[in-house]
Amino acid sequence: MTETRPNAEHGNGEAQPEPSFPLVEIQDLKTWYPIRRGVLARTVGQVKAVDGVSLAVKRGETLGLVGESGCGKTTLGRTLMGLEQANEGRILFDGQNILAMKPAEKKDIRRRMQMIFQDPLTSLNPRMLVRDIVTEGMRALGMIRDSEAEDTAASLLAEVGMNRESLTRYPHEFSGGQCQRISIARAVSMRPDFMVLDEAVSALDVSVQAQVLNLFMDLQDKYGLTYLFISHNLSVVSHIADHVAVMYLGKIVEYGTVADVIGHPVHPYTQALISAVPVPGRRTQRIILKGETPSAARPPLGCAFHPRCPEAADVCRTRAPRLEISSHRLFACHMRNHDR
Ligand code: SF4
Repeated sequence: MTETRPNAEHGNGEAQPEPSFPLVEIQDLKTWYPIRRGVLARTVGQVKAVDGVSLAVKRGETLGLVGESGCGKTTLGRTLMGLEQANEGRILFDGQNILAMKPAEKKDIRRRMQMIFQDPLTSLNPRMLVRDIVTEGMRALGMIRDSEAEDTAASLLAEVGMNRESLTRYPHEFSGGQCQRISIARAVSMRPDFMVLDEAVSALDVSVQAQVLNLFMDLQDKYGLTYLFISHNLSVVSHIADHVAVMYLGKIVEYGTVADVIGHPVHPYTQALISAVPVPGRRTQRIILKGETPSAARPPLGCAFHPRCPEAADVCRTRAPRLEISSHRLFACHMRNHDR
C-alpha cells in the first residue's frame, strides 16, 4: 500500500491535514453482553465479545483486523459504528470521544463514518431503485436537491464502475459484485473519511473479490479514505492493509505492519493462522490447533489461548500475558522475548 497522500483531496474539495495523529483511536474498549437467567432475568455472567481493545488507525491507512469467526472482530467494527453499545472505553474520532457525545453532536461524525457489510444484497432495500438507494442519505442530509439526484447518482455509479442504465433497476437484478459496488457508491455518497469494511469481499467470487479490492484501493487513493478492513482471509488482508491486528477471544494478541505480522508472525496463534494460508513456493508445516475457540462467556484463565496453544507452559494457565511492544510491533505471549 502507498503512504497517505497528505494533500489528497476529499469529496468536499478540501485538502486533508498531515497524518500526524490517528483518525480513529480506540482505548480499552469493552463490549459485553449480559447473560440473563431465571424468571427475574438476573444477570449471571457476561459474554465479553470485545474485552479491552486498544487500537489506532492512521489517516489514509488500512488496518486489517483478522481472527477466526466469533473472535469479536465484527462486534468491534459495529461498536465503532454505534451499532452495538460499548460498556467501557473511548472511541476517539478525529480527537473527539464519540462515546461521550449526545446523538445530535454525532450527526456529522456518523456521516464521516460508513460501513460496508458482508452480504451486499441484504444491505440494500429491495423495494428501492438504485438511484434512490445511492442518493437517499444525501437527500436526507440536504446535501443535494431532488432535481440533482439523477445526475448525482449516475456519477456515483460511474465512480464504482457501473453505468447510468443501472439507475432505474432494483438490487435483485444485479450480481453480488454489482450489489457491493452499489453499497460502496451509497457509502461514498456521504463523503466519508473512515469506512469499516466488514468481510466486504468474502461473499464474492474470487475474480470479483480482486476487482472490488482494487476499487477500495482506488477510492482510498482518490479521497484519502481510512479503512478498518475486517476479514478472516489473511491473503486478502495482506493485499489491502498497511497494518494488521490479530484478535482472539475479544482481545488483540498481535499487531504490526503487514510485512511483520504476515511475513514473520510472532504469536503462536498468528503463526497457526498463517500456516493455513497456501503460498506458492512456501513449504511451511501447517499448525493444526486443538479444539474450538472457547466461549467468550467463560474465557480460560491465564492466556485465553492456552488450551489450544502448542507452546503453552504452566505460567500460561495462571497469568494472562500483556500486549507489549517490541521493535514497533505488539504481541501478548509469555514465551516470546519482547527485547529481541
Ligand atoms: Fe501460548 Fe503461553 Fe504464549 Fe499464550 S502465553 S500464546 S499459551 S505460549
